[in-house]
Amino acid sequence: MTGPGRKFHVETWGCQMNVLDSQRMAGLLEARGYQATEDFRDCDVLLLNTCDIREKAEWKVYSELGRLGNWKRERSGRVIGVTGCVAQRAGERILERLPLVDFVLGPGNVDRLPEAVEAAGEGSRTTLLELPSDSPSYPFETISRPGGSQAYITVIEGCDQFCTFCVVPFTRGRERSRRASEIELEAADLVSKGFGEVTVLGQTVNAYACPETGLSLAGLLERLARIEGLRSIRFLTSHPAFVTPEFAELLGREPRIGRYFHLPVQSGSDRILGRMKRRYTAGRYLEIVDQVRAKAPDVAFSSDFIVGFPGETEDDFQDTLKLIETVRFASLFAFVYSPRPGTAAARWGTGLEVPLDAAKERLARLLELQRGLQRKQNQGLEGSVLRVLVEGEGRGGLWKGRSSCNRIVHFPPPAPSFALTAGDFVDVRVEEGLENSLKGSLAAAV
Ligand code: SAM
Ligand code: SF4
Repeated sequence: MTGPGRKFHVETWGCQMNVLDSQRMAGLLEARGYQATEDFRDCDVLLLNTCDIREKAEWKVYSELGRLGNWKRERSGRVIGVTGCVAQRAGERILERLPLVDFVLGPGNVDRLPEAVEAAGEGSRTTLLELPSDSPSYPFETISRPGGSQAYITVIEGCDQFCTFCVVPFTRGRERSRRASEIELEAADLVSKGFGEVTVLGQTVNAYACPETGLSLAGLLERLARIEGLRSIRFLTSHPAFVTPEFAELLGREPRIGRYFHLPVQSGSDRILGRMKRRYTAGRYLEIVDQVRAKAPDVAFSSDFIVGFPGETEDDFQDTLKLIETVRFASLFAFVYSPRPGTAAARWGTGLEVPLDAAKERLARLLELQRGLQRKQNQGLEGSVLRVLVEGEGRGGLWKGRSSCNRIVHFPPPAPSFALTAGDFVDVRVEEGLENSLKGSLAAAV
């Protein structure tokens, strides 16, 4: 049984693109009368929107599925769909191995979700895994976004880089940019719904090129910045090979673009960067950081790192630590290398692996270094005033928000004379810089 009145629940793992895909799926079901529920035990249609980036993420999905047998048998007509990147890569094998799964649907087929759910209701098991090659377009009006402060917009799908460790080009397909005109309409629609901040998304967001006009990401952000009421625009994730002087210059002159640049470097060793097929050297990365800082000194950098990549020596790792000390990232994400099926590095064979213990020990040293640098940088902000997007009430009676440079900021609630809600912008004077956040007091509502 499918259709109006039935309840669905979406479990989401992984990146912001998956979060948005889940919101798209929720919107498609709601438009057909299904109701969202936070409690999966209560739902009729359960969607597991999966991440395949590291082995651990994949195993979480299987362990969750392993626990769902009784749940599915408890009520007749229940449907389980596996979507996202694990669905794309493992596809048919999931249906073969797990009879409780009704359909698998890859990230390129989100719009066909209702079809798969209806088919499951009629007893068919469906596989929807074609990787699209056209410019993406979707009915953005029906996306089910939680109300609040900020919303995501996809501007470019897929990836053409084929970094030797990464599964994304196989799970999300080739790079395809969305039309700028449609992106502008979506951003304006979001402003009309009360969102003051949007984050434009892509695996290599700065490779964006409008399929109609060739407009670059810099051009696109400039156009979005002209939308009245859109107060803050963020962009995720950039690849160093596509950072242009034009983009650095735009960051310098357009204050509505978030003062936060997530620019994954992965390693500080040229030897490892070459093996990863990242198409830049550590020197070039530092040059880009300098160029951006010369134009926009208040922009905070963050990055992703992989430690224990095949063949990584202690010297290579020392180069990574050196790069971290040189750049002084406001934050970073670091991962132990996880071999992924189908990627080039996973085929290199034995002899190059870094033992897991050694990789974990490097990860701990890297994070320790970053903690110290981060604390110092946050202390350096004491006394300054930051523009903060209010996210809501936090812990301990304080309010919580995110600064334009993407730092978490806690501050005491305002006097009852003016109300504050999620989505408001305020200026906060920083009083204490902690390791992972800032504490301050309200300077003004803006
Ligand atoms: N497109 C982005 C880029 O070019 O860096 C990142 C995409 S990926 C979803 C996010 C991060 O996961 C990567 O930057 C990388 O640090 C990490 N990652 C990807 N594949 C990995 C692997 N096989 N093992 C460990 N970490 C991995
Ligand atoms: Fe993966 Fe590299 Fe593409 Fe990023 S640029 S998604 S790391 S292949």
